[in-house]
Order: sequence, then C-alpha cells, then structure tokens
Amino acid sequence: MNEQNTQMLYQDFPALYRDAGKSMKETCMCWGFSCGDGWYPLVYQLSAQIEVEAQRLGLDPQTEAWPRALQVKEKFGTLRFYVSMDDSSEHRYTLEQFGQMKSLRPVAGIESVQALISEAEEKSATICEHCGAPGTFRQGGWCRTLCEDCETKYQMDRR
Ligand SMILES: [Zn+2]
Repeated sequence: MNEQNTQMLYQDFPALYRDAGKSMKETCMCWGFSCGDGWYPLVYQLSAQIEVEAQRLGLDPQTEAWPRALQVKEKFGTLRFYVSMDDSSEHRYTLEQFGQMKSLRPVAGIESVQALISEAEEKSATICEHCGAPGTFRQGGWCRTLCEDCETKYQMDRR
C-alpha cells in the first residue's frame, strides 16, 4: 500500500495502529499494510468499524483491551487482518485451512470484532487488490483477487 494511504490509516486510527513505527522485533506492523491500494477503502472501513464496535463495548483506548492491529496483509489472494485485544502476550489463534495448507492465525478476543474482520476478509475476494474495481478470485501460479483489466495486464507482464 502506498505511503499516503498508509499514513491516512495511522493518522485516523492511532489507537488501533498504535504499533505503527515500532521496530520489526516488536511488531509485524513495521511492514505497514502488505496489500495493494485497491483494498485501501476496505481496510479503512474495517478500521472504522472495529473502533466503533470497541467504543460500543465500552473499551478504553488507553488500555490493552482496545484492539491492536498486529498485521495486515494479503495471503492466498485475500485480506488478512490480525488483531489482539488483551494485554497478555498469548494471542488467541485459530487454524486456517487453504487447500492443502494449514496455518495458525491470530483472532480477536471478542467475537463481534472478529465477525467484522471475517466479513471484510471475505469481501476482499470480490475487490481487485490492485485498483479497487470489482474483482474475481483467481488461482494460478499463486492466488490473487483482480479485475479483468488488471488480470490481463498481469498476464501480459508475465510473458
Ligand atoms: Zn484492477
């Protein structure tokens, strides 16, 4: 994601992205948002929804109960948004399966927050990661979600 969009997210959601600017020993957020700019509106909307829900739950942004973004990235062609919501160093995990591959992923400690995240992650399979146009989940050498134009360009670049 480009610098402008990245800074906009950090600026508008400082509590959620309080790890921004920390070193790579401390957080995966040192990599910023490891996905294309086409998903910026989706990530922005999800960030807003998470903070609204945290407010509704009566959480305090000054405490570790407030959702903390651990990592935001593209994986297997769709969005992954990892958060923690407690001060213990033991994050909650769930097993995620994709074809033959299995991996552990962190999940939010509160179900209503994780539901928002799951919804956005599913939605990312319908939005071109590159430009934000309606996209289709595609499987080939690797998986990605692109619109027709970006897919054509991608295929031509590979030749
Ligand atoms: Zn596109």
